[in-house]
Amino acid sequence: MVQRRNTKQRQLVMDVVRELDDHPTADEIYLKARETDPRISRGTVYRNLALLSDEGELLSVRIGNACHYDHNTSFHAHLVCQQCGSVIDVPVDEGRIAGVSRDVAASTGYDVEGVELTFVGTCPACRQRRQDDDRAAGQDRERKRA
Ligand SMILES: [Zn+2]
Ligand SMILES: [Zn+2]
Repeated sequence: MVQRRNTKQRQLVMDVVRELDDHPTADEIYLKARETDPRISRGTVYRNLALLSDEGELLSVRIGNACHYDHNTSFHAHLVCQQCGSVIDVPVDEGRIAGVSRDVAASTGYDVEGVELTFVGTCPACRQRRQDDDRAAGQDRERKRA
């Protein structure tokens, strides 16, 4: 019985990560999971996330100071908007990155065991918002001058 509940909770955690689809943090996953299972505890969610990451079902990705979870376990990079914090997947050529890793290993003497690739920038929605703000500020200045 306990076993069945464990399996169900594990499945729920996995489903929530897939459903949120935007590299949620453990807390975001916990809050969403509670909508389906109000009795699920924060500890259970965290424990399942750790297990699923260990087993390779999920990736844990460090972005800034936070740990995010990813159901896309194929090799890819992340692109983070510095304005709104959204995170999207970007495909990258694994062969090219492997080449860079070999260069890094050769020049440092390290065993390079993995790569976490994160690009930062401004997403199209935030860029648009910024342009609109700039335009509004410009009109404001015009009005004051008139
Ligand atoms: Zn943005
Ligand atoms: Zn991702």
